[in-house]
Amino acid sequence: MKLNVLIIGAVALGPKVACRIKRLVPEAEITVIEKENQFSYGGCGIPYYVGGDVANIEGLCSTSAHAIRDGLFFKNVKGVTVRSAHEALSIDRQRKHVRVRDLAAGSTALLPYDKLVIATGATPAVPPIEGIDLPGVSVVANLTHAVRIKEQIARGGVQKAVVIGAGAMGLEMAEALADMWEVDTTLVEMADQLLPQAIGPDMSLLLQKHMEAKGVKCLLADSVMRIVGSQETGVTAIETRNTRIPCELVILAAGVRPNSKLAADAGLAIGMHGGIIVDDRLRTTDPDIYAGGDCIEMLHLVSGQRVPMPLGSLANRQGRIIGTNIAGGSVRFKGTVGTFCLKIFDLAVAKAGLTEKQAVAAGFTPVHSVVSQPDRAHFYPTHGIMHLKLIADRKSRQILGIEAVGPNGDASSPASMQWRPCCPMQSMSMRSPIWKLLTPRHMHRPWTSSTTRPTPSTISSWDTTIPSM
Ligand SMILES: Cc1cc2nc3c(=O)[nH]c(=O)nc-3n(C[C@H](O)[C@H](O)[C@H](O)COP(=O)(O)OP(=O)(O)OC[C@H]3O[C@@H](n4cnc5c(N)ncnc54)[C@H](O)[C@@H]3O)c2cc1C
Repeated sequence: MKLNVLIIGAVALGPKVACRIKRLVPEAEITVIEKENQFSYGGCGIPYYVGGDVANIEGLCSTSAHAIRDGLFFKNVKGVTVRSAHEALSIDRQRKHVRVRDLAAGSTALLPYDKLVIATGATPAVPPIEGIDLPGVSVVANLTHAVRIKEQIARGGVQKAVVIGAGAMGLEMAEALADMWEVDTTLVEMADQLLPQAIGPDMSLLLQKHMEAKGVKCLLADSVMRIVGSQETGVTAIETRNTRIPCELVILAAGVRPNSKLAADAGLAIGMHGGIIVDDRLRTTDPDIYAGGDCIEMLHLVSGQRVPMPLGSLANRQGRIIGTNIAGGSVRFKGTVGTFCLKIFDLAVAKAGLTEKQAVAAGFTPVHSVVSQPDRAHFYPTHGIMHLKLIADRKSRQILGIEAVGPNGDASSPASMQWRPCCPMQSMSMRSPIWKLLTPRHMHRPWTSSTTRPTPSTISSWDTTIPSM
């Protein structure tokens, strides 16, 4: 009998699972259901679409060979059935079927499965603020939101905008509005720094200065109390605890929560952060149901805690693992150190592991060292200053985290910050002591790096200044 796989959710993880199974088990019957009209798109490209670097929505929905990834593409090229505008309502684990509503027709049907994959992603946090439902106030979680926001700006209706939340998405959206559209943009953040979950205050200040120099106002340690306007005018202003800012557009980027309701209702185990609990083969507490991506909690390899980690890079990796395992293989997902990078105007930010604050919360005694050095040979025309911060545990000398801020060109070059933190990152996941990083084998050419590279310099400065206990 043919293997029958049903997948709920069709943006990053879902399609990856489907294509991987089909490659390994060509005769498998695979159906993916998605409640939205669009599917299999690059969600990470949304800020570039809103900002105009990606001109049309098709750019986010096509393969590198410019084929649009629509239903026909999945049917004819991949052999996978995708049903968009279909919402999964409930899972019956005893009978192994899912109740699904066809949102266009209004009818419901039961879809059976041998193996089920939950790829329902995350839900944007919507703070309970007065005026949150006014026209002109939007989250930015999918293509429909992106199109609506871009159309409003393109109509010329937005001179001033407020972005609530200074995480990665908030910063990228602020850049998209201020850069291409020259919208007067203010970021409002409850914490006293940008990227509070990702980097420390010292590195964050470099980023803040850069954003302010580019015209984005940063209102920190403040929160929005009320959104002002009417259904006729749309939003006209926001009021924070300290000030009032006139605006025609408000973007909510106040974080996301795992979308785990279907799983919880079906009796699957849910973690303390609201994400679905999975084992290292990405099986839920029901061995015939797998889950991955933004809807799960995963092991943080430094803190040892289970956390949600809503990153497209992880969703894609986990999709491949789930596909392989459903096809009969045995691949494990051991956890993550949360490697992440971001470009804001001309600056790039990268990090892996824990910030010092998170390290203290996880029970470590963190110490850090910061080194600022040329990212390329000092005589090479495009060199700039890169700042690297290494965080380690005073007692065990285990590496806990690395943060990097430097010129954007560096992040896109082969000598990027993605590989500069990579060496400490591997050590973090192996729980290595710091001295193991003192003899890394890096390459050098003037366009890639200086001969004295920031990463080992940071490490050796830490190693000499912080004696072991
Ligand atoms: C603006 C933006 C920028 C981002 N930038 C980056 C970046 O630069 N780098 C990075 O690593 N990550 C980035 N991300 C995060 C990345 O997009 C996500 O981590 C990734 O898409 C998660 O994939 P997923 O498949 O788990 O969930 P999602 O992509 O959220 O897909 C889940 C899908 O499931 C559907 N669904 C939910 N419930 C049901 C149901 N009951 N029935 C049917 N369908 C359902 C939803 O409609 C949704 O389309 C960004 C995200 C956004 C929004």
